[in-house]
Amino acid sequence: MTDPSILVTVPSLDDKSLTPPGKESYYVLFPTPNLDADIDWKVTGPKYRDQMIKTLEQRGYTDFGDSIEVEHLTTPLDWETQGMERGAPFASAHTFFQTGPFRPRNLAAGFENIVFAGSGTQPGVGVPMVLISGRLAAERILGKN
Ligand SMILES: Cc1cc2nc3c(=O)[nH]c(=O)nc-3n(C[C@H](O)[C@H](O)[C@H](O)COP(=O)(O)OP(=O)(O)OC[C@H]3O[C@@H](n4cnc5c(N)ncnc54)[C@H](O)[C@@H]3O)c2cc1C
Repeated sequence: MTDPSILVTVPSLDDKSLTPPGKESYYVLFPTPNLDADIDWKVTGPKYRDQMIKTLEQRGYTDFGDSIEVEHLTTPLDWETQGMERGAPFASAHTFFQTGPFRPRNLAAGFENIVFAGSGTQPGVGVPMVLISGRLAAERILGKN
């Protein structure tokens, strides 16, 4: 991607026990395709990591790369190892026909007593969406919906 949206959080600002005194921990998320893409993550991962650092420095995180003392890089290969289909931790992509009402329903077809909750079902990915799906599942079980 030429201009990706990125996520940077600094958990140690809220929880000082995460790092030694005077240090900070950063979490940096850059988008990737799933493993359907013809990408060798063992080769591309470290290159993408360098590109991530460069992008952060260009956007104001001065000397970010040189300041790193400990780092851990996660790629879609790692997500796959953890059991996630095609190395995609966000479940089905949020393309139009996989979003909201088009996402798989939270009732299992052919069964009355199986209800799904979570990011793979309606309405979609993200903590707020998943909480809504949990509420929908509870309402289904209680016969309110
Ligand atoms: C890197 C990353 C960053 C994110 N950032 C944000 C963010 O900033 N804001 C936001 O709103 N959302 C964010 N999300 C999305 C959000 O985390 C997910 O949409 C949400 O956690 C999905 O909830 P879930 O309950 O469907 O699945 P999960 O939270 O993945 O929970 C599923 C649970 O089931 C367990 N499990 C799996 N298989 C089995 C089994 N066979 N038996 C027993 N247990 C099992 C797993 O261990 C896991 O604990 C992010 C996701 C990722 C991957």
